[in-house]
Amino acid sequence: MLIDNHNRIINYVRLAVTDRCNLRCNYCMPAEGINFAKSDKLFTIDELSRLSEILVSQGVDKIRITGGEPFVRKDLIVLLRRLSEMEALKDISVTTNATLIGPYIDELKVLGIHNINVSMDAIHRKTFEKITRRKHYDTVYNNMIRLITEGFNVRINCIALEGQNIEDILPMLELTKHYDVSVRFLEEMPFNGGSKTFDKITWDYKHILEYIRDAHPEYYKLESPKTSTSINYKIPGYKGTFGVIPSFSRTFCGSCNRLRISATGDVITCLYAKASTNLRDIMRAENSEGRVKAEILKAIGSRAKTGFEAQKKYENVFDNSMTSIGG
Ligand code: SAM
Ligand code: SF4
Repeated sequence: MLIDNHNRIINYVRLAVTDRCNLRCNYCMPAEGINFAKSDKLFTIDELSRLSEILVSQGVDKIRITGGEPFVRKDLIVLLRRLSEMEALKDISVTTNATLIGPYIDELKVLGIHNINVSMDAIHRKTFEKITRRKHYDTVYNNMIRLITEGFNVRINCIALEGQNIEDILPMLELTKHYDVSVRFLEEMPFNGGSKTFDKITWDYKHILEYIRDAHPEYYKLESPKTSTSINYKIPGYKGTFGVIPSFSRTFCGSCNRLRISATGDVITCLYAKASTNLRDIMRAENSEGRVKAEILKAIGSRAKTGFEAQKKYENVFDNSMTSIGG
């Protein structure tokens, strides 16, 4: 079992399989001039499978595949097949922009991969296209609805972006009236590859909740798992639920159970920290398993207690783009 220096059990890994993406969401990365990693710097699918096996042998039982956009990797399904064969891995989930998932939906079902987070920050086409800087609205919307209606456990991630999609908050919420889906409103974080900096946000989780409360005073709070980053609610009579994720306010650090590994092998122990070590070259050496395990233990043994502590410790952490961290 992996236990960090603050006695938190780490059983959840967010594994980024690429830093590339077919969208250019303006809160995540600049429109141009992004330095994506060269292909040989990315883990291969074999390396990702081996790394996952090592992590699972250390007590990890939940892996979330993320990126960049995971499905830009044409061989992603091979990794998903292998993960689904790992018995001790209880939960495999994917975070995706839903542009490219269509052809894989049937197989995901067969593999038992039901937990899919879809990022969609606007229900209005124009707003969506402005935020993502691409024209994939119909594909994303249709894939999202298909996932929901075909029985996947879908959570929609929608970042509240001042001046961009605030008019979309209530219509996004209305999706939960008609569908058994969870819509989660996230606070924006300044990990956008340097395109904009900020040290406070207007739309923190309290503000989002007040805004929703004005329209739906009857909503009520739900019980959530202790390690959940979202605080969850329901509007009576609605099929689905909604939540807020205080990713910038960082109210959930005390029960953090997660570790992030980037597509190039960086081990990131907190969103607000720089990488503590890199596993790629270690993985590529002979007899690497023992060293990989030791590096993970070392990283977990020196985690910051909170995102605020991490932020203080590391300089220039906001130069990072979420496309390399994986969200
Ligand atoms: N491409 C996939 C997607 O968009 O779902 C997976 C990778 S994306 C980096 C993972 C998550 O990070 C998404 O839900 C996205 O909305 C979120 N994210 C990206 N940039 C963010 C930011 N600056 N603040 C808060 N969340 C962010
Ligand atoms: Fe791509 Fe996801 Fe970042 Fe949008 S949030 S640019 S879809 S990685």
